[in-house]
Amino acid sequence: MSAPQWVTPVDPDAVAGTAEALFRSTFGGAADGVWTAPGRVNLIGEHVDYAGGLVLPFALPYVTVVAVRVRNDGILHAVSTHTGESWHGPLDDVAPGHPAGWAAYVAGVVWALRRSGHLTAGTGFDVAVHSTVPVGSGLSSSAALECAFALAVADLAGLPTDDSGRRQLITASILAENEIAGASTGGMDQSVAMLARPGHALLLDCRGGATRHVPLDFDAAGARLVVIDTNAPHRLVDGQYGNRRATVEKACADLGVATLRDVADVDAAVAALSSPAAQRVRHVLGEIRRVREVADLLDRGRITDIGDALNRSHASLRDDYEVSSVELDSAVEAALEAGAWGARMTGGGFGGSAIALVPADRIDAVVENVARRADTAGLPVPQFLHAEPSGSAHRL
Ligand code: ADP
Ligand code: MG
Repeated sequence: MSAPQWVTPVDPDAVAGTAEALFRSTFGGAADGVWTAPGRVNLIGEHVDYAGGLVLPFALPYVTVVAVRVRNDGILHAVSTHTGESWHGPLDDVAPGHPAGWAAYVAGVVWALRRSGHLTAGTGFDVAVHSTVPVGSGLSSSAALECAFALAVADLAGLPTDDSGRRQLITASILAENEIAGASTGGMDQSVAMLARPGHALLLDCRGGATRHVPLDFDAAGARLVVIDTNAPHRLVDGQYGNRRATVEKACADLGVATLRDVADVDAAVAALSSPAAQRVRHVLGEIRRVREVADLLDRGRITDIGDALNRSHASLRDDYEVSSVELDSAVEAALEAGAWGARMTGGGFGGSAIALVPADRIDAVVENVARRADTAGLPVPQFLHAEPSGSAHRL
């Protein structure tokens, strides 16, 4: 087995240099500016966003950078180092499903800002993209792209970018992803990309959108948080996400509440439902409690005590919500075996990434054990990322 593969964070200025070089070679001349937005990882609060629950993500030191220049012909021309494919076309033609593919995440932002009256027709953009966020690993490369570009458009069009301006850009980015890219997204990713603060997680109330910054200083606690990207192949699980949402909605109707968040008596609600709805609801309501528990511990600086809640979250997602996978379970078990305080799958599940909270002096042992166990089981080679709570989208 070869040495564990770390993805080292790249200095945003170096990422910017690559985006600017792509801009010059594609479009000639210089961009009007360069903007960046981070990927994110969710510390806890999984599959609760659509139940009006609480989530606790933070921004990663892995970013997407866009180099952007305004055009006055209403055309979007976008290129990315990730795909090598460019898209070129009139922004007037943007509609659900068009453009297809990655350009939807860029074009959709303009579409949404035009629809909300923040941007007038006729404005176009040249856009060059470079990213260090792993794409499609559940670390939200899609929101990083939308939010970096949304902030660019706002700055170039003179829209406000204070807290309330950023909330409008969050809405536009969500709409771009839901309506134009056709991907279901709740809003956690865009919120953290736009509002995150270094050294903090973002407690987001998905019922109403209120946010609070919660201190999260791993260094001071002698802890490290590692993201384990399992590199598991994408499976045909599209129906599973919709199935869980439908189960939750049906349970709400049966229980007579608008969202599961409104359930007052958890035990009575679970007892009133049959299987599998009862287990699904038990996960959601338990997970919302665990988010409160973790936020409370973090408020008191007790980072190293959150491991148990992370472990219970994973068990609940695996056994009650049934969205884990052999790769995720392997990563979590191997991390715990090598001395992690806690570990869980993060993101939607069925592949993607896991996180482990590790004593700083155990980090090498943990990643080696995770890699070794994947190797022994014939699973894909995982890669590891440093999860240091980072800042939000900004102009470079
Ligand atoms: P995640 O957000 O977890 O990485 P998604 O499936 O939500 O996964 O989004 C991934 C999609 O976002 C990609 O397939 C691509 O269409 C788009 N995307 C993200 N980052 C980039 C990038 N740097 N360049 C081009 N497209 C990107
Ligand atoms: Mg995404």
